[in-house]
Amino acid sequence: MPRSTTPQTLSREITISGHGLHGNRPCSVRLVPVAEPTGILFVHTPTGTAIPARADLAGDLVLATTLVKDGVRLQTVEHLLSALMGLEVEHLRIEVDAEELPILDGSAAPWVEAILQAGVKGLEGRRRFMKITQPIEVRNGDRWIRALPYDGLRLRYVIDFPIPALGRQSRELSLTPDKYRRELGAARTFCLAQEIDMMRARGLALGGSLDNAVVFGADGPLNESLRYEDEAVRHKMLDLVGDLALLGAPLLGLVEAHAAGHALHVALAQAILAAPSCWEWTEEAEPANVRFFFQPAGLTAAAQPA
Ligand SMILES: [Zn+2]
Repeated sequence: MPRSTTPQTLSREITISGHGLHGNRPCSVRLVPVAEPTGILFVHTPTGTAIPARADLAGDLVLATTLVKDGVRLQTVEHLLSALMGLEVEHLRIEVDAEELPILDGSAAPWVEAILQAGVKGLEGRRRFMKITQPIEVRNGDRWIRALPYDGLRLRYVIDFPIPALGRQSRELSLTPDKYRRELGAARTFCLAQEIDMMRARGLALGGSLDNAVVFGADGPLNESLRYEDEAVRHKMLDLVGDLALLGAPLLGLVEAHAAGHALHVALAQAILAAPSCWEWTEEAEPANVRFFFQPAGLTAAAQPA
């Protein structure tokens, strides 16, 4: 699947139902194609409230990304947003009949499958990218995230947990729809077994189970198996892709994150939007390809970084 140069929506409607991870309530989500580029717009159907996927509407960011407008909350939007951004479907109306999106299997894979089954449709016009031209960074103690100039979108993520079962994991990749689907989309959300009581006391993870999350105990995952050896850092990258949707347009840059999470991901999106001197609009998705065309003979695509 080559990277798209036109704005994209879905070819047809999709409805998916399930339960929320934190509130454990039923929720049905209807993905409705749009006729022209509008960005991603959520609609909370019980109240009719329209909530654009925008960083200035981000609310509570503890263990999930929540959008808030006119007193209406939409929790855990990040995995659906991640699947859409990963597959470059950036224009869609999303009707939701509850305040938390379904967790499904804890990854973006069920959304990805549904999107691919429905098919993607190009809209009039050109896709516009926010291209980072100056480094921009947000820090919180030892945790940080930054965006640097880069031709394309590249993600580099490091996590470091003080339990041996998780420990330090790092991964880096240049994002394309194929790589998203193969390398990030199926990575499930995770937590530490020791955190579960604390989360439940705060009314979080009430719908969590080994069917929709990886739980790491002192000796390893309590689940039967992992989908990837480093599933945890891949899920963090999946979350990052979803949270960057709140920029409102696809990003071109190298995003490096160290022990970050939703709060820092969204803070970076907010910082980028607040610093227009650090980026510019462009319609050129991959100028790196132009350079590749002029590279000396013998250097194949396999010689390019992943
Ligand atoms: Zn997540």
